[in-house]
Formats: sequence, structure tokens, C-alpha cells
Amino acid sequence: MKTSSRAMKVVACLLLVALVLTAGYAAKQTDTYIVHDRTRPWPPVITPPKQVGQPPSDAIILFGGTDPNLNEWVSEKGGGQAKGGGQAKWTIKDGYMVIPKKAGGIRTEKLFGNCQLHIEWRTPKGVDPKITDQKRSNSGVFLMDRYEVQILDSYTDDNYKTNKTYADGQAAALYGQHPPMVNACRKAGEWQSYDISFLRPLFDANGKLLRKARITVLHNGVVVHNNIEIEGTTFHKKEAAYKPHEHGKGHIRLQDHGSPISFRNIWVRELPEQPYLIENPDLK
Ligand code: MG
Repeated sequence: MKTSSRAMKVVACLLLVALVLTAGYAAKQTDTYIVHDRTRPWPPVITPPKQVGQPPSDAIILFGGTDPNLNEWVSEKGGGQAKGGGQAKWTIKDGYMVIPKKAGGIRTEKLFGNCQLHIEWRTPKGVDPKITDQKRSNSGVFLMDRYEVQILDSYTDDNYKTNKTYADGQAAALYGQHPPMVNACRKAGEWQSYDISFLRPLFDANGKLLRKARITVLHNGVVVHNNIEIEGTTFHKKEAAYKPHEHGKGHIRLQDHGSPISFRNIWVRELPEQPYLIENPDLK
């Protein structure tokens, strides 16, 4: 009798644990909704592009090729238009824009947090082979004005004998942090693309980091970063680190590093925050 009562208690305990675990799992899995809940809201319907790489209907066009005033962009010199800086001074030619000498970088007037970004770029043909390493057609795409995906002429042979730099500074590297998983670079003079999915970092009211930013990058359609954590603001010859900043949104910036890089077909989609990716309930 005693044994049977003890056994029942053990079974009851196990059942309780199982119930708690199941409830926890269900809550985590679906947040508010049960599986196949017909009251769950449907996602917005959009029109996809006819061709991959072209903008879907909910994209914001940052540069379509025919905007001579670069209305979505401001010069980063002097802190941009909002802080007394000026209009972006990059040159428009045949549907693309190119960085003139000493023009300075440009950044979007609008601010973006979580987003999908498509951008096409081209390094110039015929660069003197003596110009190597980080000087070989350098630019970059900065998310939230801070986190750089490197642009560089990194086209090379299988053993990097003809062209190389440090791995975490080559094209598609998360500069100073993560080299791309593969080098998918095209030759100088050919158009290339980045498709970037970015999850912003989150800070609490005191500037304490609650969630690192994350990024997925496709270079010419090839996954080169798969949802990796960003270690912080991009620095040169210094380890990346987070500096507290408004975790909402920031400018997208294109770098002028002294090379005449061209850009075209730039569009962005704002992505909603996903509550299950936030640990602090106050930020939901
Ligand atoms: Mg750069």
C-alpha cells in the first residue's frame, strides 16, 4: 500500500512537470494563439516582383536610377541635411550613381530598423594592379549608420595569389568581425548584389544591451552570412563593441572610401519586430 501511494505521487509529479513543460512550450511556440488558430490575423498581401532582385510592392525605393536629385539621400558631410549638411553629391549616369572624388559618403534621410535591403554595386574596371588590399575599390553599406557590410574588389584566384586582403575586410565581410562563408565576388566592372536581412539590436533604458543585432547576407544570390550576431559598431583595427544608441532606427549609409564605386537598384522593406525575439517584456 505504502509503495503504491509513493508510486502514485511520483506519477503525479511527473504529470505536473509534463504539463508545465507543455504549457511553457505552447506559450513559447505560439505566444497568444493556439495551433491553427482561425482567429490569428493574416499577414498583409503584397505583390511580389516579376523578377527576383526587383522591388516588391511594399518596398521603399531608395534609388531607382532616374532620380537626379537623389531625394532619398543626404550627404554625410556636416551630419547630413538635418544637421546642416547638404544634398548628396554623387553623380547620376545611365541609371546608376557613382562616387565622385572627395564627395563624401551619403546616407538615407529616412531611418530604418529591422529591414530587408537590396543593393547593387560595381567596382571599376582597369584599376592599376599595384592598388591592392583595402585600397582596391573600397566602399561599404552601413546598417543603422554603424554596422558595415564591406564592399571591395575581392575577385581573385582559388588561392588568393592575385588579389587579397585580410579575410574580415574582403567583400561581403561584416567588417572587422566575420568573413563571408565563401568568396562569391564577380570581376571588377560587373554588377554585383547584396540582399541583406537585418535585425536591430535592443537596449534597455539604461543603455544595457538586451539583444545583439543579427544579419543574413546573400552576395550575388549566395548566402554568405546566415543569421549571425553582429558584435557591435564597426571599427577599424579595433574590436567591435556596442555603444548604446536608440534601438529604434538609424540611417542606411554608403561609404566613400576614395574609390569610384557605382550603385543602382537600391530598395528596402521595413520588417516588423517579432515579439518572441524580445526577452524584455517592457520592449514588446
Ligand atoms: Mg569599407
